[in-house]
Amino acid sequence: MSNLLERFAGSPLLSIAEKVAENRRLSFDDGVALFKSPDVLGVGALANHVREKKHGNTGYYNVNRYLNPTNLCWVDCALCAWARKPGVDGGYTMSIEEAVAESAAGWHDGITELHIVGGLHPSLPYSWYLDLLRALKARFPGVHLKAWTMVEIDWIARIAKKDVAAVIGDLKHAGMDSCPGGGAEIFEKRVRDVICRDKISGERWLDVARLCHENGVKTNVTMLYGSVETVEDRVDHLVRIRKLQDETHGFLGFIPLAFHPEETQLPDVPAATGLTDLKVIAVARLMLDNVDHVKAYWVQIGEKLAPVALHFGADDLVGTVTEETITHAAGAKTESGLSRTEMERMIRGAGREPFERDAFYERVVRDPLGRVLRANRHDFEACLSAAPAGPPVHPSSLDPALASS
Ligand code: SF4
Repeated sequence: MSNLLERFAGSPLLSIAEKVAENRRLSFDDGVALFKSPDVLGVGALANHVREKKHGNTGYYNVNRYLNPTNLCWVDCALCAWARKPGVDGGYTMSIEEAVAESAAGWHDGITELHIVGGLHPSLPYSWYLDLLRALKARFPGVHLKAWTMVEIDWIARIAKKDVAAVIGDLKHAGMDSCPGGGAEIFEKRVRDVICRDKISGERWLDVARLCHENGVKTNVTMLYGSVETVEDRVDHLVRIRKLQDETHGFLGFIPLAFHPEETQLPDVPAATGLTDLKVIAVARLMLDNVDHVKAYWVQIGEKLAPVALHFGADDLVGTVTEETITHAAGAKTESGLSRTEMERMIRGAGREPFERDAFYERVVRDPLGRVLRANRHDFEACLSAAPAGPPVHPSSLDPALASS
């Protein structure tokens, strides 16, 4: 009997452990049993077994920046503390120029990815979305644009009065490289009716993701846990992701998101505990046998728990972020961004080997000053002569325009 199975001798989790050891797919009932098991360390050990088989001792992260060009949104999700209705204090919409300037502000560590999400703006024209992508691509060549969730793409298609596949084609042509995984929440309608009643359905979210994948755009996928869902709802969500992934192989990674109740319409929902955070990551790793990466989003679960998650099935701590606003609007107490050094310290602290990845999970190559030489299959070496002289106050990527930002 292997060491892994010895750990579960006499345990109700033994039959699941046998499947894990033999690389067999877990069933819906297995997922529920894992969530209901009091043996959190046992569930974590199984997930860690899978994680180490897939990724060894590697702990991935990337150097990214968030851009939220507007927080105006016609939808009124109970889960959301961030969006504003037009005319309400705190609402904003950036012009294209402002969004580009915002992307360049605070630029440090040679960012290799812009993560772009916003509200469902009631009146911005279709051209604004395309122009924004074009302007960002022109200013930051080689930087990966991870832009618009499935919810936003559905909305942009409605504005454009075009079918979703055509809109995906236009966005891709304008510079969209991949998509973030937000808005998936929990696919089950009963839960959506409470937390995001007017948002697209779970089925529609999956349909838009399928269209992205079929049109050559990889996406991510999230799950919002800790609101009003049951463990069965969580497992159903994971099984639906797994089913689409079997079909398209288009999901790059899965990101569990803990619900933060502060300032939302559901303030009395107790925040998820650290044990729930770890269990969700572990069960996701075990159920999503066809998704390469399970991420632990340090902004959400905290800088103390995120390294622990690297032993509970997660292989990626997501990015430096630079300036997170959405989870912080709902009361997150974490930093709004970390440096590359801090990310690496967090990963090393967990006993894992840091690996700065680009959007394709290939290694980012930097020079001794920290400037990016290669990322996202893009060579920055041609710009070397234009790199700023002197110490790396802002060891930017080698785009000279960025160096002065
Ligand atoms: S969660 Fe998204 S769709 Fe819902 S209100 Fe907030 S920004 Fe709008």
